Parts: sequence; structure tokens; C-alpha cells
Amino acid sequence: MNKPFKIGRYSIKATVSIGITFYPDDSNNINDLMVQGDLAMYNVKKNGRNNYVEYNSYMKKLVTGISISEGIKYKELYMVYQPQINPKTGNIEGVESLVRWNSNTLGFVAPNEFINIAEETGTIHELGNFIIEEVFKQINIWEEMEFNIPKVSINISPIQLMNKNFYSNVNEMLEKYKVSTDKIVFEITENFAIENQKQIVDNLNAIYKSGIDIYLDDFGKGYSALGYLEKLPISGVKIDKQFMDYICENDKIIKMIFTLAESLDLNVVAEGVENNEQKEKLMNIGSCVIQGYLYSKPLSVKELETKYI
Ligand code: C2E
Ligand code: MG
Ligand code: MG
Repeated sequence: MNKPFKIGRYSIKATVSIGITFYPDDSNNINDLMVQGDLAMYNVKKNGRNNYVEYNSYMKKLVTGISISEGIKYKELYMVYQPQINPKTGNIEGVESLVRWNSNTLGFVAPNEFINIAEETGTIHELGNFIIEEVFKQINIWEEMEFNIPKVSINISPIQLMNKNFYSNVNEMLEKYKVSTDKIVFEITENFAIENQKQIVDNLNAIYKSGIDIYLDDFGKGYSALGYLEKLPISGVKIDKQFMDYICENDKIIKMIFTLAESLDLNVVAEGVENNEQKEKLMNIGSCVIQGYLYSKPLSVKELETKYI
């Protein structure tokens, strides 16, 4: 291909850009292999052309990022809802919305996995808006059915909160679906020092002002700087499942979290409660709402309605 082509009086040079992907190491699916080869080729073109490049795992992330967007378009993503129960009364106090992705090309992908990739590739903004819109739509439908769920939680990635348009997007959707903010909880995970990021703090304050509650998810697991429980407008904490796993042998940290929550006037949700022993232990320590397989796994809209209407 290096030799120029002679066309009439002209001598024309063509360059070649090649993307390479390997069967079966990269994939054993023809569609994936085609997409991956293309992607590698686009990488060559972007970086000056006339070269070859092998497909790699960073590109894989990009592919997944792109497929999430496609997944939204083709309705492969949907929400399930896990009940949160008051252990004293057995009443449903709320539900947590959790996203699911049944991809045409990749099969069922676990949320932890694709949310991470969405965060790394920036797709999280589109995905996050989709999730908020789906949940608001659902709340609106439930309100019309007079199916009254006091609180609906939505997981929000800190990356979403770095976007200066985050709050105005939320506000637009609130108006579009006429959702009352006192029904909504945003759950954020404390995986890095969010209290020093001005954009995040501004967004959190605007959310709080609008009437939406903010809870810290997986509390105690990650970064856990206690200072920001006072600095940020936090209404509650969700105790991480790892503490529930050994609550029957050792409940010191859980007790400490209840004490902390009481003195800061925070609500407590205990997550990942799987059996009655754990529930009894919790009820002896203090009052909280319980979410876990003991009561229910995450349910489809239909299952939830059948169980609780
Ligand atoms: P998370 O927000 O802490 O959600 C709780 C996870 O624990 C859910 O897993 C739920 O199914 C699981 N779980 C609940 N009760 C039990 C139990 O009793 N035992 C056990 N073993 N597990 C229990 P899931 O749905 O796989 O979600 C995993 C994580 O993915 C979530 O953790 C959250 O960080 C993220 N995620 C899920 N949906 C969304 C979403 O819509 N938006 C964002 N940003 N993140 C999401
Ligand atoms: Mg959560
Ligand atoms: Mg959690």
C-alpha cells in the first residue's frame, strides 16, 4: 500500500489504518469482535492514521460506556425497588431504587460493574439522568394510583454531583413529573473527600434546600471522615452491610454509629439484614429502618405493587 496509485496524470497515495482484535481472547462473539476491531481502528485514525493498534481493555471500557448509552436507547436498562421496613410495625417506610442492565450483547451486567465504567467514561451523567427520570416517572404513576410509599431513594454517584448542571436537571424533572421533593432521598457514597469539592457541596446544598433528603450510603465502609456529617446537609446514614454480617458476634461499631446518629439527629437505615437474629440485635440497639433479604430482595414494579398495595 506504500506505493502510490497512478490515476491519469495523478499519483495518489493511500494510507492504511488497521484495528486488531483477537478471537477468542478478546471475545468469542462476532458482533463484539467487529465492534472492537472498529474501535481499535478509530483509535489509529484519531492518533495520526497510517498505523495499526491492538484492541485493549481501556477501549473495552469505552465500548461498555457506549453500550450503556445504546442500552438506554433500546430500553435494556430498568429499575427495581427494594423495600425498607420499620421492624416495629412491619410497615413499608420507603424503597430504594436500583438499576439493572440486561444487555443484548453483553448479557446481564452487575450494577457495581457498569456504574464504575460509566463513571470512568463519563456516561454516568446520561445514565444518572435516565435513572432519576425513570424513578420520578414511577413515583408519579404511584401517586396517581394512590399507592403511597413515603420515601423513594435514588443512588447518586459523586461524579454526577461534579456536574454544574446537576441540580437544574433534577429541578426540570421535578417540575415535569410533578414529584413532591419530600418523597425523595438521594443516597451518596462516601468514597472520597467530597466535602472539599465546591461543585459537589453547592449541588448538595441546592438539593437539600429543595426538600430532598440526603443519606450517606455504605456508611463506615470507605472514606468515613466524620467532620462532614456536620458540614454537609445530611439527613441519614445507611450502615454498610459488612457490619451486619458480624453483628451477632460483635456489635460495637454499630452501637457507635447509632450513638453518633442520635447526637447528630440523623436517621438510620440498616442495610443487608438477612435474618431475624440480626433484626433482633438491631432493635435492641436503637430505632432504625431495615432493608435486606430478610424482608425482600429488590422487586420489579409489578412485584412491589402486588406485595404492598
Ligand atoms: P447500594 O446502593 O449499597 O445497594 C445495596 C445493594 O445491596 C444492592 O445490590 C442490593 O440488592 C444489595 N442487598 C440488599 N439487601 C441485601 C441483603 O440482605 N444481602 C445481600 N447480600 N445484599 C443485599 P445491587 O443492586 O447489586 O447494587 C450494588 C451497588 O450498585 C449499589 O449499592 C450502588 O452502589 C450501585 N447501584 C445500584 N443501582 C444504582 C443506581 O441506580 N445508581 C447508582 N449511581 N448506583 C447504583
Ligand atoms: Mg444505595
Ligand atoms: Mg449501600
